[in-house]
Amino acid sequence: MCKTAPSKISEVGGLHSFSVFGKAPGWVNTGFPAGFTSQAPFVSAWITLKSVLTLEYVVFSPNITWFLLSWAYLTAFPYSYSEGTWNTMGYRLLVNCTLAFAYYFFFYFGLYIANWGKRKFYPGNYPTMGNMAHNMWYWFLGVLQWTAYEIGMQKIWASNLFPTPPTMAEIRASPELIALNVGVLLLIPIWRDIHFYSAHRFLHIRPLYRLVHSLHHRNTDPEPFSGLTMHPMEHLYYYSNALFPCIYMTGLSPLVFHFLFFHLVFAPAAGHSGFEDHFGSDQYHAIHHAKFEANYGSPNSAFIDRFFGTFRETLGKSKEYTGEWKEEDKGKEKKKKKLVWSAHSYLGLWGSLAQGLYDISVFGVAVAAMYYVWVGGLDDKQSTLLGLLVSVGPVVSGVFVNNVVSRDKMNQAWPFHKEAVGFYYTVVTGGLFCVLPVYHFVKLAAQA
Ligand SMILES: [Zn+2]
Ligand SMILES: [Zn+2]
Repeated sequence: MCKTAPSKISEVGGLHSFSVFGKAPGWVNTGFPAGFTSQAPFVSAWITLKSVLTLEYVVFSPNITWFLLSWAYLTAFPYSYSEGTWNTMGYRLLVNCTLAFAYYFFFYFGLYIANWGKRKFYPGNYPTMGNMAHNMWYWFLGVLQWTAYEIGMQKIWASNLFPTPPTMAEIRASPELIALNVGVLLLIPIWRDIHFYSAHRFLHIRPLYRLVHSLHHRNTDPEPFSGLTMHPMEHLYYYSNALFPCIYMTGLSPLVFHFLFFHLVFAPAAGHSGFEDHFGSDQYHAIHHAKFEANYGSPNSAFIDRFFGTFRETLGKSKEYTGEWKEEDKGKEKKKKKLVWSAHSYLGLWGSLAQGLYDISVFGVAVAAMYYVWVGGLDDKQSTLLGLLVSVGPVVSGVFVNNVVSRDKMNQAWPFHKEAVGFYYTVVTGGLFCVLPVYHFVKLAAQA
């Protein structure tokens, strides 16, 4: 294989020679079809550490572009700590939908209408109008939940339960606050990688995969909007990334919260484009959508995939992958490739009784949570119960529905049942990084 070293100067901010479309990342060997360059030489714990220590992962990556966009967005539409109520939700939702749609449609237009990308992972494969309606419905639910988190956080900041965040002037006047905020902002991209790895594996455990994450995987060949096409319970745990620093640390600028959410909402557009040759393209995750049980993380967390034997370096034949993939599964793989899009359950219609029961249970809790968070003023016991229902409820309901209603015969730890520590790693980090922050956030917001 011809190793092509990344041309750093031309990839500042993830912009290849300052062009958004039509250029593959520097490490790609364009002599191979899209997705067939091995990522093995470019991912390891040492490479991740080096890229963090030298700030390469900030400057020579899309992270700096997303940070600048997030900063501009928050400056134009700042948070409020006195009117942080549900009354402002309609306005915020309109702004969030408009800006997020503009960003997602920019990639959709460039790649699927103007044809500025030439290297599609699955050439000739394009979504139908039905696929797009399905994707955009769940995409909208993702923006809606983001907005609800923003309003909930403003409500918490406006209450006496949590210190009001410092202003820019207060941060500039304090060397400690400058160090804290710059340090946390620089760590956000790597925290995203580590949290995504854990949340994603958590959602792949059999009951949650069947009832929640499988919706995201209907897009075996994604397009930009499919990046945020998730079951609302996947949004819940995916977004918990932004809560982990913001409700456990004081002295943080609102920009920390905003950048975390901006990264969570905007980064998946380019990462699910279906193409290789543009800003923010992501072969690593495209392989995950094609192969399901490999590449749970991203290039920066690939060393954890390597440790568990779930790293797959190319869409072609893999030398590295030692996970659950077997030679005899190849026939099934070919069938799956033809079944690119889901033939059922468009626009949130239930494909099975089990799915219907699960969705009714979690939807009921979500409506109750939104009502009580709106009303606010719950006491300690009431808010604890609500926090548990929202954070642990989707897991308990998933295990119950999958075992009792569906009578699922498969190992409930699938696909991690054969990993010595992998299943426990997944449960512990999923509990700590996803379930716990959601619990604390809902409890605080319901008391505020
Ligand atoms: Zn997945
Ligand atoms: Zn995905």
